[in-house]
Amino acid sequence: PLNCGIVGLPNVGKSTIFNALTSAEAQAANYPFCTIDPNVGIVPVPDARMDRIVTMVKPNSIVPTTMEFVDIAGIVEGASKGEGLGNQFLSHIRQTDAILHVVRCFADDEVIHVAGKVDPLSDIDVINTELMLADLDTVEKRAAKSEKIAKSASATPAQKSEWSAITKLRETLGAGKPARVVELADDEKLAARDLFLITMKPMLYVANVDDASLANGNAYTEKVKARAAEEGSEVVLICGAMEAEISQLDPEERKDFLAELGMEEPGLNRLIHAAYRLLGLITYFTSGVQEVRAWTIKRGTKAPGAAGVIHSDFERGFIKADCYACEDLFRLGSEQAVKEAGLLRSEGKEYVVKDGDILFFKFNV
Ligand code: GDP
Repeated sequence: PLNCGIVGLPNVGKSTIFNALTSAEAQAANYPFCTIDPNVGIVPVPDARMDRIVTMVKPNSIVPTTMEFVDIAGIVEGASKGEGLGNQFLSHIRQTDAILHVVRCFADDEVIHVAGKVDPLSDIDVINTELMLADLDTVEKRAAKSEKIAKSASATPAQKSEWSAITKLRETLGAGKPARVVELADDEKLAARDLFLITMKPMLYVANVDDASLANGNAYTEKVKARAAEEGSEVVLICGAMEAEISQLDPEERKDFLAELGMEEPGLNRLIHAAYRLLGLITYFTSGVQEVRAWTIKRGTKAPGAAGVIHSDFERGFIKADCYACEDLFRLGSEQAVKEAGLLRSEGKEYVVKDGDILFFKFNV
């Protein structure tokens, strides 16, 4: 599955949020998910639509789709120059698909802040600076060789693209801006991908607040939101301490506890969904009495590609997909009714799968 790295200064609540994410899941059901190692966890993506399909179809088995979360400790001021755990965090974070940047937005004298006071903007700057410096280092390391190759007589178009990407990235990173804001042509993007730049990855801010600030935020979250708006990033408010409590409850207790708080679902569900959106992902379903299952694809994927997520043979031998929207199922009450209303379509190779589609693939073996 695609994965999200959780970053932030020490003591902002990363592990609390990570543990809540991965232990809520452990209790959720008897799915064979587990924490892979202490810092990596696979989490089912909560989906109310899937629950509704399951209620209607009553399948023998249910398989939700998943996302992976990685708790990345060790980023402190100077990390890119070897402070703290130094560069160890870099190899982990390079392998992630997106970044969740946890920012401390709660005051609590009991919890020590590494910089001595709660100051979300300065925290954000410290982390982002380390990530940009790490990227600048990557780019600089590659630059000399890339330039030499690109300017040689035998340079390929790809090698020339790499050099032009590097010159742009170097300038932007050097000016203290993340790689994701650099405008690159398609060929340059392709070349830049091989650099595995951290600040090229999509990122969202997770404002860790006390429970009283959950509904309306506080002075800290206002600052984070303003900064995020400038950058075009999203902010999700979470109360790490409370999520940790919720994750320890059994499903019945959890429902009652959430109801008391006037919440429909744990805040972590919002976080998982935000991460899913950040990655540009959507869900389609396969549904039958044997199994109801959710599958993850990138928005814009065509039917054969969606089939390929199940099995490469499905993609290779793709003939067509019978398809309807889950909303039509909910509205009309049964698959039969969807058929009778003429809403079950047969789609071909060019069909772009939509979020919430229920698909049945026909393929040659
Ligand atoms: P990490 O170093 O970023 O992984 O931070 P931790 O998750 O270990 O949390 C650091 C400390 O902050 C712990 O003592 C947590 O109990 C506390 N903490 C985490 N989230 C919250 C929160 O939402 N409110 C309060 N008051 N404390 C929190």
